[in-house]
Amino acid sequence: MSNSSPGLALVISAPSGAGKSTLVRRLLREFPEFRFSVSCTTRAPREGETDGREYHFLSRQRFQELIRQGYFAEWAEVHGNLYGTPLESVEQILGSGGHMVFDIDVQGAEQLKSGLSEGVFVFILPPSVEELENRLRQRGSDEGEVIESRLAAARKELEAAPDFDYWIVNDDLEGAFDRLRCVYMAECCRSRRNPRLYERLVRGSV
Ligand code: ADP
Ligand code: 5GP
Repeated sequence: MSNSSPGLALVISAPSGAGKSTLVRRLLREFPEFRFSVSCTTRAPREGETDGREYHFLSRQRFQELIRQGYFAEWAEVHGNLYGTPLESVEQILGSGGHMVFDIDVQGAEQLKSGLSEGVFVFILPPSVEELENRLRQRGSDEGEVIESRLAAARKELEAAPDFDYWIVNDDLEGAFDRLRCVYMAECCRSRRNPRLYERLVRGSV
């Protein structure tokens, strides 16, 4: 058993295209103490993606076996593919005091809420549904039909926003990232995350 306090789990969720992967990538660059929760998925790798870095790419059959074995902290079907968060790495990293960032869909975030007591749930909002559509088209990673299905899902997913701790409107990227950085900084300063700091201070050894 580790004697450090549990790490912070920063769960970033949003409708597809709102900009969560962009914000998560920046967070990982600026704060190397974060570990990215590498999910499993049955979707095909996109250009530039590496197995084990963005995702663990699995067949549907293998993914379903892992579901049966209780391998996932949460899993969901998103736009026709299965996505899931491996439980073991979450337990290991958070249990040893490491901070983790999750880029997951709304259904997955709702599932994690019950299990992650140290979770901080952040919802990234697009400035408008029209802008969301523009971004999905400009990203160029999906066919028109897939974009339509992502937009239909987005309207539904926006309804889950009230369940999250923080909202960040991703209008301009710099402003949105500043706000995300502030959320992280504020969470790091929470008294309950720093029990040993107080102990050391009152003992006069700091
Ligand atoms: P998600 O991970 O939520 O699906 P992405 O991070 O892939 O979204 O962003 C979708 C597209 O929008 C990408 O092409 C990205 O470069 C672009 N994008 C992200 N944030 C902004 C922003 N603030 N302004 C304009 N374009 C953005
Ligand atoms: P993409 O295919 O664009 O990489 O991701 C599609 C959606 O799946 C995004 O909303 C992304 O956040 C979500 N996603 C990625 N990994 C997971 C996961 O482990 N669990 C869940 N529930 N969703 C995930």
